[in-house]
Amino acid sequence: MSLLPVEQAFARLMEMAEAATIHEHESVPLAAAQGRVLAEDMVSSLDLPPWPNSAMDGYALRLSDWAGEPLRVSQRIFAGQAPEPLEPGTCARIFTGAPVPQGADCVEMQENAEVLDDQRVRFTEALSPGQNIRPQGQETRVGDTVLAAGTRLGPVELGLSASLGLAELKVVRRVRVAVLSTGDELVEPGQPLGPGQIYNSNRVLLCSWLKRLECEVIDAGILPDDLEKTRAALGALHDVDLILSTGGVSVGEADFLGHALREEGELALWKLAIKPGKPLTFGHFRGVPVIGLPGNPASTLVTFALLARPYLLRRQGVSEVQPLQFKVPAGFVWSKPGNRREYLRGRLEQGRAVFYRNQSSGVLRSAAWADGLIEVREGSTVAEGDLLNFIPLSEVFG
Ligand code: AMP
Ligand code: MG
Repeated sequence: MSLLPVEQAFARLMEMAEAATIHEHESVPLAAAQGRVLAEDMVSSLDLPPWPNSAMDGYALRLSDWAGEPLRVSQRIFAGQAPEPLEPGTCARIFTGAPVPQGADCVEMQENAEVLDDQRVRFTEALSPGQNIRPQGQETRVGDTVLAAGTRLGPVELGLSASLGLAELKVVRRVRVAVLSTGDELVEPGQPLGPGQIYNSNRVLLCSWLKRLECEVIDAGILPDDLEKTRAALGALHDVDLILSTGGVSVGEADFLGHALREEGELALWKLAIKPGKPLTFGHFRGVPVIGLPGNPASTLVTFALLARPYLLRRQGVSEVQPLQFKVPAGFVWSKPGNRREYLRGRLEQGRAVFYRNQSSGVLRSAAWADGLIEVREGSTVAEGDLLNFIPLSEVFG
C-alpha cells in the first residue's frame, strides 16, 4: 500500500469537515468570546472615528483665519466633550482624542505654539490643512465588513468588536469532542505501575489542548484492547461531534477500533507519508466522525497539530486553519532522503534550526525541548543553511 501524502490527507479531512460544518450558533458576551469562531460577518454600524478628532495635544484653528498673527483661545476641548463651533478668528485649546470643533481644519501641536503674556497663541511653524486631524471614518465606515464569518476571535478581534460598540457576538457553538485513549498497557498518573504498564500521556495532552482550542471535551478515559468494550464505549458516546482516539491504529491484532468501525460504520485506514505518525484512521461510528491518531505521544502531537486541529477548526467554518510557518536555515545536515515527510521537534539556536537528539515517536521530551516542528520533505536531503519550513508549536496550541 503506497503512502498517502500529507497534503492529500489534509485535503480529504477538509472535505469531510466541510460536509459536517456546525451550523448552530449562539450569542455570547464579548468577554466570553475569546477563542470562539465568528458565525456571521461583522458589519460596522458606526464610522470610526465617529467624528474628526485631534491626534495631538495642541490648538485647533481655521487656516483661512490665520495670517501669522497670534490667535485668542475661545474654548478648551477635552476628550469626551462636545465642542462649540469654532468662533471665527480664534483658536481652540484641544487635547488628544477630543472632537475637532466645526469650522476648524487644522490642529497644531503644543510644542509649536507659544502662549503670549496676553494668553493669545502664536504659531511658529507653517500649517497645512487637515494636519493632526483624524478624519471621521478613517479606520472604518458604516457598512464595512470588519471581520468575516469564520474568523477566530482573539484579543485584537475582541478589542475591534468593542470599538464598534458590540457587547455580544454571534459565534459557532463549541465542537464537542470525546477523547479516548486505547491500550491495555495504560494507567493513569497517580496509580502504581504494574508490570508492562505505562502512564497515559495522550489523554491529558489532548484534553488540555482541545480546551485551549475552546472545544467542549468529553473525557472518555481509557479503553481496553477488547472489541466488546470498544463497541460499548463508542456506543455510549452520545451527542458528540467527533470521537478522537489514540492508539490501536497500527493494523495489528489489537485493532479493535478498526473492527468496531467496520461493523458499525465505515473506515479509512491511511498510511500517511508523515514521520512521526504514519497510521491514521478516519471513519464514522453510527454517523459520528472518528479520528484515530497513532498512539506514540510524539506522533499524537504531530498528527493532531497538522491534521486533527485544522479539521476541528474547519468544522466550525474557520477559513484560516493552517498554522503560521516560515523558512529557517537548517543548522544540521540530513543526508538520507526518507519516503515520509519528517516533522522534527526542534528549535532555533543562533538563527538556525536544530533538533532534539532523540526523534523517536515515543519520546515526548523531544517536543518539550522544542519550540517548533522542522519540516524535512520526503525524498530530500538537507545541507547546512538550506531553508526549511518551521511551524512554531505556540501556533498550533491555540
Ligand atoms: P498502538 O498504536 O496502540 O500500538 O500504540 C503505539 C505505541 O504508543 C505503543 O507503544 C503504546 O504503548 C503507545 N501509546 C498508546 N497510547 C498511549 C498513551 N495514551 N499514552 C502513552 N503512550 C501510548
Ligand atoms: Mg495500543
